[in-house]
Amino acid sequence: MKTHREVIVIGAGMAGLLSAYFLKEEGKDVLVLEAKEVASGQTGRTTAKITSQHGLKYSKLLKDVGEKKARLYVRANEAAIEAFARLVQTKKIDCDFARVTSYLYSEKDMEKLKEELEAATFLGIEAFWTKETELPFTVAGAVGFRNQAQFCAMDFVRHIRKELEILEHTMVTKVCGKKVYTKDAVYTADNIVVATHYPMRNVPGFYFLREHQERSYVLELSGCEKINGMYYGIDEDGHSFRQAGEHILLGGGSGRTGEHVCGVAFHELEMAAEKYYPDCKVESRWAAQDCMPHDGIPFIGKYSMFTPHLYVATGFQKWGMTTSMVAAMILRDKICGRKNPFEALYRPQRLNFRAGTANFLHDVGKSIKGLTKGWFGPKDLRCSHMGCGLEWNPDEKSWDCPCHGSRFDENGKLLDNPAKKDKNIRRV
Ligand SMILES: Cc1cc2nc3c(=O)[nH]c(=O)nc-3n(C[C@H](O)[C@H](O)[C@H](O)COP(=O)(O)OP(=O)(O)OC[C@H]3O[C@@H](n4cnc5c(N)ncnc54)[C@H](O)[C@@H]3O)c2cc1C
Repeated sequence: MKTHREVIVIGAGMAGLLSAYFLKEEGKDVLVLEAKEVASGQTGRTTAKITSQHGLKYSKLLKDVGEKKARLYVRANEAAIEAFARLVQTKKIDCDFARVTSYLYSEKDMEKLKEELEAATFLGIEAFWTKETELPFTVAGAVGFRNQAQFCAMDFVRHIRKELEILEHTMVTKVCGKKVYTKDAVYTADNIVVATHYPMRNVPGFYFLREHQERSYVLELSGCEKINGMYYGIDEDGHSFRQAGEHILLGGGSGRTGEHVCGVAFHELEMAAEKYYPDCKVESRWAAQDCMPHDGIPFIGKYSMFTPHLYVATGFQKWGMTTSMVAAMILRDKICGRKNPFEALYRPQRLNFRAGTANFLHDVGKSIKGLTKGWFGPKDLRCSHMGCGLEWNPDEKSWDCPCHGSRFDENGKLLDNPAKKDKNIRRV
């Protein structure tokens, strides 16, 4: 096994795999290092909508970062949808890729939806208003974006991984300069991409101060009437719907990781399923989480000003299919020495004070609370990332960190990063 590569990509989720794939297409010698198995992280639990409709995004972006950046955000995500379509078509990838309409809906709030429709239309999106949906309840209104897409992310990944050199069960423990350390070897690379979902290095970069993680819950239901569109509810108790083969994926119960202490997330979702589809059967259930950046824009580009050969892709805010594609395009161009039209928007070193300050302060408050709990609480419940106090998650029988989102099973085995080490937890 060669220990020097042109590019090492750390993490084999959608972001890492697509980045590696595009760099390989450019003729680069790329190695992917994955701590567990390919797509065993959040990518394996996604609902895989490929859309530029990211919740109430555009009305907020226009207010927070202005028209120029909002237009770039639209173009980047529309380009990502087209890039998926092209890849699936040219490589004949069998992954249930289908063009569908994506809808934002509300059962009560027409005003916010109308504002979003206006913003999206102003930014050049072919958006439309409707009250007719395939949902099993009446909506106050819905905003549709045509020509979006959905697919089976795992089938897609199964195809593209065939063309890549990937070392599974290889956790990277440290990155220093151009060196990448694992338990058994030290690799070197001209360029290194950190696609570990939550960035694995605290300093420099300081991503632990710039994003937190939110968890959401999903039920796979059989026995429901089929739908063609993808739906996302903007109300506090709104749900996400999409058809996946014969089943419907129903999502909801979103909240900050570590704050699901009541243990009702799956129960509430099951109640909703029963209300919407009385004859349905729950075939499977799972949860996943994603990184939420303060200013509502993912971080893609140089890891920090002090690490010229190190790149990062994180902060996908539950829209990591299009954003992984955007990341792969930006990182490919940067590593190949080309300018990318979207790099300034996603540059991790940007400062968007208006959009980010309140969220930043909120997160700092949460971290101080979590750290205090860690310092004064039982030692075995201190997160192995930064020492915050872990909270019990009764839905999933796990110990979750409310500061940065690391998770451990009931015995302390690491489930989700940024922590890199297991813990020894001795309680029920
Ligand atoms: C419930 C839910 C539904 C979602 N649905 C959608 C959707 O419909 N559409 C959409 O666009 N987005 C959706 N998302 C978001 C999307 O799934 C994620 O943003 C995306 O999968 C993240 O991909 P990733 O490659 O960044 O991370 P991951 O898939 O988590 O990959 C990171 C990989 O890095 C590995 N790793 C971590 N640390 C190390 C290390 N030290 N060394 C080596 N490897 C390491 C991990 O094992 C993992 O395999 C959803 C998110 C949630 C929570």
